[in-house]
Amino acid sequence: MVTGYVDLHLHTCCSDGSVAPEVIPSLAVEAGVEVVAITDHDTIDGVERAMHAAEKTEVEVIPGVELSTQAADMDLHILGYYIDWRNRALIEQMAFFREQRLQRARAMVERLNELGIDLRFETVLDVAGGGAVGRPHIADALFREELTLSYEQAFALYIGYDGPAYLPKYDISPIEAVQIILNAGGIPVLAHPGTTGRDGLIPEMVRNGLMGIEVYHPMHAPPIREYYTHLARTYGILYTGGSDFHGEGRGKGWIGSEHVPRYVARALARRAHG
Ligand code: AMP
Ligand code: FE
Ligand code: FE
Ligand code: ZN
Repeated sequence: MVTGYVDLHLHTCCSDGSVAPEVIPSLAVEAGVEVVAITDHDTIDGVERAMHAAEKTEVEVIPGVELSTQAADMDLHILGYYIDWRNRALIEQMAFFREQRLQRARAMVERLNELGIDLRFETVLDVAGGGAVGRPHIADALFREELTLSYEQAFALYIGYDGPAYLPKYDISPIEAVQIILNAGGIPVLAHPGTTGRDGLIPEMVRNGLMGIEVYHPMHAPPIREYYTHLARTYGILYTGGSDFHGEGRGKGWIGSEHVPRYVARALARRAHG
């Protein structure tokens, strides 16, 4: 099926998605998506697995990552495309982030316990299934143990930004993340800027090597998309997009739901291959 659509923002069970990377190519085929990018939070473990599975299909897999950074008490995500996922320094960096996420999740569970919520850390690890641990796993674990009424309620009551059990992740700046991606030969792109409202940081990020802005995203209403497309053109940088797929029951979009046109991926490939 030739649809002309791509999806450049997908999570797998290697981070907080619920689908194995091996399943992504066949889901893409079903959805009529020709190019996908695996962009797990702080890990590149799913990239090769998805690429291998894609060999049996016509689907192209772009190696990617979504790095979490801290900007004025807020999480700002930086996507990296066409990274060299075999790069030693990158692999070591990801291992460090993973360890930091583990410690943070443990501390968040301790906070919940202090609040009288009887969640066991083992349940969170079980939900994470060996992937980079994040708040979605804690939310699922709380729901599974019947300590909240829903996944969303876990965020609303305890682990959202203003929640009593929320803890920030390790402190790296957006510019440091841009540098990590550049060092691994990748293209740094600011993820879903419409969800953070930190546009003031964009000029300095562009000066430091930011090469694109995510425009198509389930949390971006049409005027927001227009605004960021315009901004990307003003800076002469790329614009990208995707569904931010996390699998069943984890919110955001399904694979292909953003109808990102093929030329968006072509422009990205041209930038990567010079
Ligand atoms: P973390 O990187 O561990 O802080 O987790 C962030 C992830 O949690 C995001 O990528 C979303 O998938 C999810 N998330 C954050 N806030 C909410 C919310 N209010 N409701 C549902 N999911 C959320
Ligand atoms: Fe996520
Ligand atoms: Fe994100
Ligand atoms: Zn994402």
